[in-house]
Amino acid sequence: MSRGSKKPCPGCKEVEHYRPANEVCSECARLLKEAAWMEERLNKMADDEIVVMYGERYHWNKYIYSRASVSRDLMKIFQRLAEAASRPTTKRSSEVQLLGDIDPFAQKYVIINKLLAETIIDLRREVQVALELEYKQGKKDGTSLLMGLADGSLSAQDFNDRTNRR
Ligand SMILES: [Zn+2]
Repeated sequence: MSRGSKKPCPGCKEVEHYRPANEVCSECARLLKEAAWMEERLNKMADDEIVVMYGERYHWNKYIYSRASVSRDLMKIFQRLAEAASRPTTKRSSEVQLLGDIDPFAQKYVIINKLLAETIIDLRREVQVALELEYKQGKKDGTSLLMGLADGSLSAQDFNDRTNRR
């Protein structure tokens, strides 16, 4: 105990009686250790980040084509996702368009985690593909029902049951 300093800690100015004269207090030591860990993590996060661009207004981004009038809602959701997942930057150089092709006047540059950006781009593309496939399959199903009705393999009652199922 006699080696403890009565002088305040050089870090926080608190007096900790058992603090060795040439060291900071235990709380400051913990904070320094934490800061080192945080710095390492932040550097790692910065390494994983890229600059991307997208339109500030949802309708400035690439249109999501749908026959079921969900385009606007989907575009708004992707806009929100882009907004929430990124932070602004003054850097104005990137070829990565997060939400598809946009006009040069509408470009807004942001920093975002690389994996997250790739995931948003993939998700947006797959949503478009899914909408197209659903439409094609629905059309095919509808056509085969009509064919069944035409060639007599499907009764009018069955046809009504099948088409009113939803
Ligand atoms: Zn201290």
